[in-house]
Amino acid sequence: MVKENIKYARNLVSYFTRFLVEFLFPYSCPLCAQPVSTDGELCADCWTAFNWISNPKCEKCGYPFPANIDLGVRPLCPHCAAGCCELDLIRSACVYDDVSRDAVLPFKHAGRVKYAKFMSRAMMWALRDVDIKPDVVMPVPLAYKRLFYRGYNQATLLAYPIAKAFGVGVDVDSMRRDFRSDMGHKNASQRAENVRGVFHVIKPDKIRGKKILLVDDVMTTGATFSELYKVLKKAGAAEIYGVTFCRIVRAI
Ligand SMILES: [Zn+2]
Ligand SMILES: [Zn+2]
Repeated sequence: MVKENIKYARNLVSYFTRFLVEFLFPYSCPLCAQPVSTDGELCADCWTAFNWISNPKCEKCGYPFPANIDLGVRPLCPHCAAGCCELDLIRSACVYDDVSRDAVLPFKHAGRVKYAKFMSRAMMWALRDVDIKPDVVMPVPLAYKRLFYRGYNQATLLAYPIAKAFGVGVDVDSMRRDFRSDMGHKNASQRAENVRGVFHVIKPDKIRGKKILLVDDVMTTGATFSELYKVLKKAGAAEIYGVTFCRIVRAI
């Protein structure tokens, strides 16, 4: 009898604990399903596993520097100091590593579209200390063939919440992208060559004079942004910025 009472009390405690946890944390972490208090938010364990980019970093392209380096108040990476970064500003939320790859690949190829919430929040966080006022947010276009087979453009999913935060619209129909075979495992010059000429402006009136924030999931060599910059500038865009969830960081 005593044993049964103890078991009953234990069950009651576990029931109320679970009720309390679910009441306080009704949502689950999109990566590991642990309880969290805000819809779409990462739990503390998953959040700390990412290599978030903070200061010091390149003022222009956001390239992260080692923590102990002091390059003054407006540090520039050698690439930007040499005037090689065409975009007016680039920021990425985190470094591309095993952790971010395990989030980005399912987001891109396996329908984990719910990741867009925490990724776009992290991207807005990466833009928190910059003074930009885009007129429009533009996801990096996907070729129709890829869109057809994938069913969605992952960059568009990220662009909508970012545009909402800036209080501007999303432009998904001013540009078209030709289909080219995959760019995986190519070096910087091969990637630049592979993306050359793939973008076409089809609604120049929506581009002319605009400050455009380009959105993508991963920045690899910057070749895609660079090519888009050339095409958009030619169409009369005023300023062009870029933001990605993660970026591959190579030694420069
Ligand atoms: Zn988690
Ligand atoms: Zn730079």
